[in-house]
Amino acid sequence: MRIAELGGEFALIKRLTGESQDPAVIKGVGDDCAVVEYTQEKYLLITVDMMVEDDHFTLAWHTPFQIGRKLMESNVSDILAMGGSPSWAFLSLSLKTDTTVEFMEELYRGLYDSAARHEVSLIGGDTTHGCEMTLSLTVIGEVEKSMLRLRSDAVPGDFICVTGTLGKSEAGLRLLKRGVRDGYVQGHLEPHCRTREEAMAIARHAHAMIDVSDGLGSEVRHICEESGTGAQIDWERIPISIDTLQMAQLLQEESQEYALYGGEDFELVFTIPPENIAMLKEEFSDFTVVGEILPKPEGLHRLKEGNMVAMRGGYDHFAS
Ligand code: ADP
Ligand code: MG
Repeated sequence: MRIAELGGEFALIKRLTGESQDPAVIKGVGDDCAVVEYTQEKYLLITVDMMVEDDHFTLAWHTPFQIGRKLMESNVSDILAMGGSPSWAFLSLSLKTDTTVEFMEELYRGLYDSAARHEVSLIGGDTTHGCEMTLSLTVIGEVEKSMLRLRSDAVPGDFICVTGTLGKSEAGLRLLKRGVRDGYVQGHLEPHCRTREEAMAIARHAHAMIDVSDGLGSEVRHICEESGTGAQIDWERIPISIDTLQMAQLLQEESQEYALYGGEDFELVFTIPPENIAMLKEEFSDFTVVGEILPKPEGLHRLKEGNMVAMRGGYDHFAS
């Protein structure tokens, strides 16, 4: 059976994995990070993300500096999505034999640039060779036990919020595919995740949290599946930057589609009791309410011009 027939990447993971029997494991497969017992006050967070040439990056578009930075930002984003702060990283490389030293120096410069921004130390890895460049970064972090925010913590009645604006990376990707090399392609080439201070401010007031790696539609679906809830997203409230809007108009496409079904914006999606919104705004205000968590029987849909439409999934590596 092909993976697409099974239902894609997440159906495959579900089929292959199970719950850990180790009592030290607070959360295994199924969230942005694994969570394990650490000290009396803290849990340890562990996440790994891989980038493959011509899938996650293309040497024709990305500089090595951008590849290194994107790899670190995408991993740190998963630690922040748990309410935690990143500490240590391991980088595993599979390089082509013709990869140059200068290329790798630039890639590490990008990696260290992002690591410095997030106060992460690179403390190990592995190096081998292969037919295409593959980079796998593991990041380890920690979280105060009371600040841990899981995908499974959403409650009906919570508002669904997103930080910043969405669709930037998808807009940039679509331009690059059409041969545009400058202007508004930075959203794809240079994504930035949030800071630990911002994520912790959100965690203090929010219930569930996840980062946007596969699109808002997919992330809200993960929250619903893990929390046993439904949700409604208001199409008109999805925050889109002026640049993304203009790009979508130029390409005669809908920018909300980029936000819902395109990935790699690395913004945070969180659910929050409506009464906590004002308190969060005093600490952090760059977010937008885009919908509401509903009881499970109401399903997952988006509301566009007053019409309810069922939501499809986001980016999947194995979709046919
Ligand atoms: P994210 O997009 O937040 O990085 P993923 O979608 O990559 O998360 O993964 C979702 C969950 O599935 C995570 O808990 C991850 O650790 C787990 N996972 C992904 N691939 C595998 C695998 N091959 N084996 C076991 N667990 C996996
Ligand atoms: Mg994630």
